[in-house]
Amino acid sequence: MGEATRRAVLKGGLTVVGALGLMKTQTASAATTPVIHSTAEWNARPASGAIVVENHKPTYIVVHHTVDPGNNTDYSLAHALQISRDIQNFHMDTRGWIDTGQQFTNSRGGHVTEGRHRSLEILRGGTRHVQGANVGNHNSECLGIENEGLYSTVDVPVALWNSLVQLIAYIADQYGITPDFIKGHRDFNSTECCGQVLYNRLPELREAVGRQLGQAVLRADAPEWPLLKPGDTGPKVATAQRFLRAAGFGVPTDGVFGKATADAVTRLAAGQGLSRDSCTAARASDESAYLGSDVWPLIVPADRSAAAWRAELAR
Ligand SMILES: [Zn+2]
Repeated sequence: MGEATRRAVLKGGLTVVGALGLMKTQTASAATTPVIHSTAEWNARPASGAIVVENHKPTYIVVHHTVDPGNNTDYSLAHALQISRDIQNFHMDTRGWIDTGQQFTNSRGGHVTEGRHRSLEILRGGTRHVQGANVGNHNSECLGIENEGLYSTVDVPVALWNSLVQLIAYIADQYGITPDFIKGHRDFNSTECCGQVLYNRLPELREAVGRQLGQAVLRADAPEWPLLKPGDTGPKVATAQRFLRAAGFGVPTDGVFGKATADAVTRLAAGQGLSRDSCTAARASDESAYLGSDVWPLIVPADRSAAAWRAELAR
């Protein structure tokens, strides 16, 4: 926390050294402790294997949506406990995981539940990390929050937003994670998750968490990688196609994300062992050919840094 405060920079570029530190005492917690309903409260099944607790803190707090297209209007606690059971059943019985994939679940009514066993106890300790299954190839660094619903075209309910801000502020405070390390699932894997609408609100989420913690938000040094999908058209698709051709894939460079391009991305992802598993309870669509944050670094030419390419592609 102290380190983050010392590094805090206001948006205008004014460096604040110590000033923010005066706003809170050294011992007071900046974040309100949210109500988190434990696995015992929702009658979770026992995990089918040993829960892995890593001897370090998580680096990132990752926002997901459950891709439940109903966006139902049952805002009760009983419903939140029910979806916790539903997700656990799906992850264990269909995905074959040892337990719920995410560490925490946030309902449309704003009720927060523990996902994977021990996540709450370990969070309260503030020094270790329960390894989940929600961000392929990054589960040692990422603590995931599943938000009930599908937010590709519609916005989240206010209750869900408010509980998400509170929960993340508490997690960030427990681990000393600064708001810049709040990410969306698509920042790691080629997936629509956490939905375009919710993803677009991540800067606002970082600001809101920062206000709760009394921290200014540092701006990311470069924009995130774009997410391209089959059916997309335009110059970014043409750029991706040129890179794929240079990598040995026989795709056209017509700027149309058609079947040949989709097949190339699917083959590339399989060859590199990239995660194509949706973290969530259902898939809104087949994401196996999505070209996102885990594919771009494999195909951009080495003559520029990743950050330079991200800036270029954001134009
Ligand atoms: Zn996700």
